[in-house]
Amino acid sequence: MTRMLDISGVHTYYGRIQALKGVDLTVEKGEIVTLIGANGAGKSTLLMTICGRPRASAGKIVYDGEDITHKPTYEIVRHGIAQSPEGRRIFSRMTVLENLQMGATTGDPANFDGDLERVFTLFPRLKQRQTQRSGTMSGGEQQMLAIGRALMSRPRLLLLDEPSLGLAPLVVKQIFEVIKEINEQQGVTVFLVEQNAYHALKLAHRGYVMKTGEITMRGSGRELLANKEVRAAYLEGG
Ligand code: ATP
Repeated sequence: MTRMLDISGVHTYYGRIQALKGVDLTVEKGEIVTLIGANGAGKSTLLMTICGRPRASAGKIVYDGEDITHKPTYEIVRHGIAQSPEGRRIFSRMTVLENLQMGATTGDPANFDGDLERVFTLFPRLKQRQTQRSGTMSGGEQQMLAIGRALMSRPRLLLLDEPSLGLAPLVVKQIFEVIKEINEQQGVTVFLVEQNAYHALKLAHRGYVMKTGEITMRGSGRELLANKEVRAAYLEGG
């Protein structure tokens, strides 16, 4: 297996608050890796630290053999990492098509039509709604747009922050199916942060559990799903 992402001993602070306390985590090429954990555990901070905002104050982040710990965010994106942030952050006054165009600004303009078609194949709904103002779409459609926009930069590593947040169960199922398709059919490696532990671990090849800024457990998706502690803390009643 080829290592795509190697995070070692990463510490991140917000002022005096320490959000990450020496995180070690790896993602192999072609994998779906899930990070689960309670509110405030530091999951989003880890995703953002990979992209260089905020910066790790200690430790190392290596992507595809290259140390990106101190690289500016635009360069990290250019290297093939794209993030779909928590809360989606789509440009709600813009149309669907305009949002997708924004995502393409880091890619090669010559590829635009093909990339757009690829996103429309994954999300036929976005094709139908090209001219709709994105803020007027449903939560699920907006999530599809956020993922579609991230794909427009042709990432090799896709970072997803809580794609299921606030969505109805049926829509959650659809979103996870598409994530699987992106991974299997388009060969994109996926690192996924989720509170919806059941679906996320079911989908994942491997998973990690984070608690107050530290990784407390790791294993295959199946192992973690069957683990008593994981079940009690993140699955039962949830
Ligand atoms: P959630 O699922 O609620 O988003 P999370 O696991 O993603 O939780 P983070 O958002 O990474 O957790 O937060 C980790 C810690 O860092 C929390 O204690 C949070 O209050 C703190 N934190 C996050 N962002 C900031 C910020 N901009 N300024 C100060 N503290 C922050």
